[in-house]
Amino acid sequence: MKKTILLIHTGGTISMSEDTSGAVKPGAKNPLTEEGQILSSLANLIVEEPFNLPSPHITTDNMMELKQLLERYNHSTEIDGAVITHGTDTLEETAYFLDLTVQANFPIVVTGAMRSSNEIGSDGLYNLISSIRVSSSKEAYNKGVLVVLNDEIHTAENVTKTHTSNVSTFQSPQFGPIGIVTKQGIFFHHMPTYRENYTISNLSKQVILIKAHIGMDASLFYAARDLKVNGVVIEALGQGNMPPATVPGIKALLANNIPVVVVSRAFNGIVQDVYAYEGGGKHLKEMGVIFSNGLNGQKARIKLLVALARTDDLSEITEMFRL
Ligand code: ASP
Repeated sequence: MKKTILLIHTGGTISMSEDTSGAVKPGAKNPLTEEGQILSSLANLIVEEPFNLPSPHITTDNMMELKQLLERYNHSTEIDGAVITHGTDTLEETAYFLDLTVQANFPIVVTGAMRSSNEIGSDGLYNLISSIRVSSSKEAYNKGVLVVLNDEIHTAENVTKTHTSNVSTFQSPQFGPIGIVTKQGIFFHHMPTYRENYTISNLSKQVILIKAHIGMDASLFYAARDLKVNGVVIEALGQGNMPPATVPGIKALLANNIPVVVVSRAFNGIVQDVYAYEGGGKHLKEMGVIFSNGLNGQKARIKLLVALARTDDLSEITEMFRL
């Protein structure tokens, strides 16, 4: 029997076309809506288009709107799965946000495309078909929000965009995909070991992301304090170390009860308090910096936004980042 799939279009290259000058942009009509016949042979589709935005235009309000839309269907209709089409630039952030916060009892798959609808080798329709197939499969349950492109199934938590233009851009460094899509079926070969889900009702705090570099000083950290941001994520060096000149700035943030979360700018491995020199991981931890467990910078930022939507308590936030 055909499954009922909620298909939510949000924009991105998958919903754009190339003009004669080679420029890629959205048109008056989403080209995916022209594909009704092929898609409806796969599933009964309920189509929603809450907005049509390139993904650099997506805001936290848009992410909350998507969460609420999914939850509305969770409460009201018999849905077997959901697929969200999204621009690839920020796809991993929306997917991870939904993974952390949506309460739904059906699989959710996020997909996109690297080549727009009328380009040679366009991957949009193919990725959408794969995603409908994955979201319709019973094996997709209880694995969190999934990201499906280029015949691979990734977890929202681990996947990241690794290439500016290649169709195999989405990778899960260190872990790999958890399944594959073939002509004959959907095959999962790994199972996530844990799931996190948090109830939130708003996403209104301000969290900024700062990347560390050689010779860095404290000025950006003082600026963050003066801007009264609610949280700071630092993509630190190696296992979680910072240049010594940044330390007074990080201390100033902590003295103002602004949580500071450290991830690594290296895209494999986790941060740990290993080094005991000025600005080293041990020193940062003693100061009260929170160490994140393997997330990249943009996802740690999403997690800190979610944490701050629930609590100001530093020990609770620290505990959330232990997972
Ligand atoms: N810049 C586009 C976007 O994120 C890229 C894409 O969708 O692949 O909207």
